[in-house]
Amino acid sequence: MKIAIIGAGVSAAAACKALTAQGASVTVFEKARGPGGRISSKRALAGSFDFGAQYFTARSEAFLAQVQQWQAQGLVQRWDFVPYQYQQGRLSPSPDDEIRYIGTSTMHQMLSGEFEGATLYTGCKINELSYICSNVSSQSSGQWQLCSEQGECFGGFDALLLTCPPEQAFQLLEGAPLSLQIPKRALLPCWAVLLELANPTHQQAQGIFVQDGNTRWIAQQSAKPGRQSARLQQETVQAPAPEQWLVHLSEDCSARELETMPEQISALAAAELSRVLGTQVQVAAALCHRWLYASYNSDIPPCGVLFDKKMQLALCGDWTLGGRVENAWLSGVEAASKLLGRAHNT
Ligand SMILES: Cc1cc2nc3c(=O)[nH]c(=O)nc-3n(C[C@H](O)[C@H](O)[C@H](O)COP(=O)(O)OP(=O)(O)OC[C@H]3O[C@@H](n4cnc5c(N)ncnc54)[C@H](O)[C@@H]3O)c2cc1C
Repeated sequence: MKIAIIGAGVSAAAACKALTAQGASVTVFEKARGPGGRISSKRALAGSFDFGAQYFTARSEAFLAQVQQWQAQGLVQRWDFVPYQYQQGRLSPSPDDEIRYIGTSTMHQMLSGEFEGATLYTGCKINELSYICSNVSSQSSGQWQLCSEQGECFGGFDALLLTCPPEQAFQLLEGAPLSLQIPKRALLPCWAVLLELANPTHQQAQGIFVQDGNTRWIAQQSAKPGRQSARLQQETVQAPAPEQWLVHLSEDCSARELETMPEQISALAAAELSRVLGTQVQVAAALCHRWLYASYNSDIPPCGVLFDKKMQLALCGDWTLGGRVENAWLSGVEAASKLLGRAHNT
């Protein structure tokens, strides 16, 4: 069975692993330079920064088993910190029992191995799909063809799995029956801003859930395990390395400021950081990343993994099961199981 997967994020990695383990021939197409999607860490300001997912949790047995396997391989570690919350002008510790995991040095490093059994095309944005029926009277024995933005076409696939955000999947499927089941606005935008400070704040809090204003999450990236570059580690010996903070603006604020220039977004994030830490921060350098489709809109009920048996077409991704890395993984496992023609048991 020849299967094409669009996207190389968490859900695609799970599906790819399950499909290749069953002997399927899998080809993965990813528009970015490497696998990771929304858990990608980026090289910036002489370090590796987690602009997207900050950590992940494992609440199901199936995903916990996977995480433990990654831990044993040294690809994943725990991030043990006392969460803080900021509410009504007060920053205070808010301990919980959650176990939080991160990639050992980058968030996405545990995914690379999961694509090993497949052919992976990176920097390859698919912008056209066609389903070619070999028998005009039935749609049951067709094949999928995919064409990239660069004009390259790839054909002969018995099945197709889309793992991209819902709006992008909807555009690619252009009126296919399954596209009608794709929810609108299931993923909301987020501006992520990295701020390197000129002066240390000596703040204890590493991760802060912000309950009001324009921000929803603040993390001290430089305190996160495994995130300091060799240069910064050297500096710590001679002089303290600069503090680096990551600010995620709230969904409402990000939607409102979607077209705002990065300089203004950095200034807004710096003002938010000052407000939450209760001290005026001096920013030495800043970097912004705009996620058009970031995290799950909890007003929308999850639609479940979508599958059209006749066309051998499946859609998965965190948004099909309610958001988060864990659900992205589980949705990929479920989609693979549907494509392999098995009842899903987990
Ligand atoms: C700012 C932010 C903070 C988050 N925080 C957390 C958190 O703390 N904890 C948590 O559990 N989760 C968090 N998440 C959510 C988590 O990152 C996602 O649930 C998970 O990474 C989704 O994986 P996925 O495979 O479903 O989708 P994606 O990671 O979006 O993968 C889809 C892939 O498809 C590719 N693609 C799209 N269109 C095409 C095309 N036409 N051709 C080729 N490739 C294409 C994309 O480049 C992408 O790599 C956060 C996300 C963001 C953005």
